[in-house]
Amino acid sequence: MNKIPLIDLGAQYNELKTEINEALRRVLESGVYIAGPEVEALEREIAVLTEARYAVSVANGTDALLLALEAAGIGPGDEVITTAYTFFATAEAIARRGATPVFADIDENSYNLSPEAAAAKITPKTKAIIPVHLFGHPADMDAFQKLALLHNLTIIEDACQAIGATYNNRPLGAIGDMGCFSVFPTKNLGGFGDGGIVVTNNEKHAERVRLLARHGSRKKYFHETIGCNSRMDPLQAAAIRVKLAKLHEWNARRRDAASYYNQELAGAALKLPAAASHVQHVYHLYVLQHDNRGRLAADLRKEGIATGHYYPCPLHLQAAFSYLGYKEGDLPVTERACKLAIALPLSPHMTRRQQSYIVEKVKQYG
Ligand SMILES: *Cc1c(COP(=O)(O)O)cnc(C)c1O
Repeated sequence: MNKIPLIDLGAQYNELKTEINEALRRVLESGVYIAGPEVEALEREIAVLTEARYAVSVANGTDALLLALEAAGIGPGDEVITTAYTFFATAEAIARRGATPVFADIDENSYNLSPEAAAAKITPKTKAIIPVHLFGHPADMDAFQKLALLHNLTIIEDACQAIGATYNNRPLGAIGDMGCFSVFPTKNLGGFGDGGIVVTNNEKHAERVRLLARHGSRKKYFHETIGCNSRMDPLQAAAIRVKLAKLHEWNARRRDAASYYNQELAGAALKLPAAASHVQHVYHLYVLQHDNRGRLAADLRKEGIATGHYYPCPLHLQAAFSYLGYKEGDLPVTERACKLAIALPLSPHMTRRQQSYIVEKVKQYG
């Protein structure tokens, strides 16, 4: 058996090589290398996919979060509640706005921010909550929407890992006030570099994000406000549009691979990922918990199987957030998840043969 990577991006390209090359050539020959029809078409298509009225493309998922927070008026003195079990960017964006990230613990089954734990952290300074749809599993949006109504909060979905996933049959992104996506190459809709998108049903928010991302300018060389330069390249947009046509099929293949693992690994000394019945998980990552994840990862590596550690250090214990004063033991469910998590290879292009080999080795060493 050849080495099995965590995700095989080359296989995605190979399946669509002709169409992607053609799309890139179209952009190269058009002479339009910033904004233009490919970017506009992608924004329309993402709005359709997410059932959002507006989609605004930006330079990356981190900017999507940062600009969504700014559009919501979040700044110094404000508190934003989120999870510490996520990629750094979620809380980095809050801190970059001069606001204070407030970390609440997660639900032990979905690994997402617990609405009860978040509710307990609400103060008069709380302005927003950022639920993260971690690993492709939707967060409990009904509960967060209720909190938002009760306390007048903005809900910004960090949907960077969950494009195409649904909650009560609604696509993620525009269930809250705004939703943020990333097209970082390893994401479920991965480009060939960086890119991001903000979706919303709120016209004011959409206009504000667009204005801020385009130097605060609507009319060339006239600037209403201080913004920044955050754009998605037409080359990215054109390639992503090709992949977008495959998103649902590829997400279905991910779910199929995940259910094979779930079936074959049931009964092993592992905690398997659970999908709630009212959601459609898109398995951006297939993450297990194992009591000795370091040893299991080393054993699997010897057998040619790559694994991932999402995430080795929770955000409340990161050096960058030491100024917030959290200590070990503050978020026990999060800390335990960080200690035990091990991601197995899962991608739309892996074969059953690869999967059954992985299952055999996980059972042998697990
Ligand atoms: C990838 C990711 C981001 C950041 O996206 P970039 O495009 O890399 O800036 C933010 N939040 C989560 C949960 C992510 O997985």
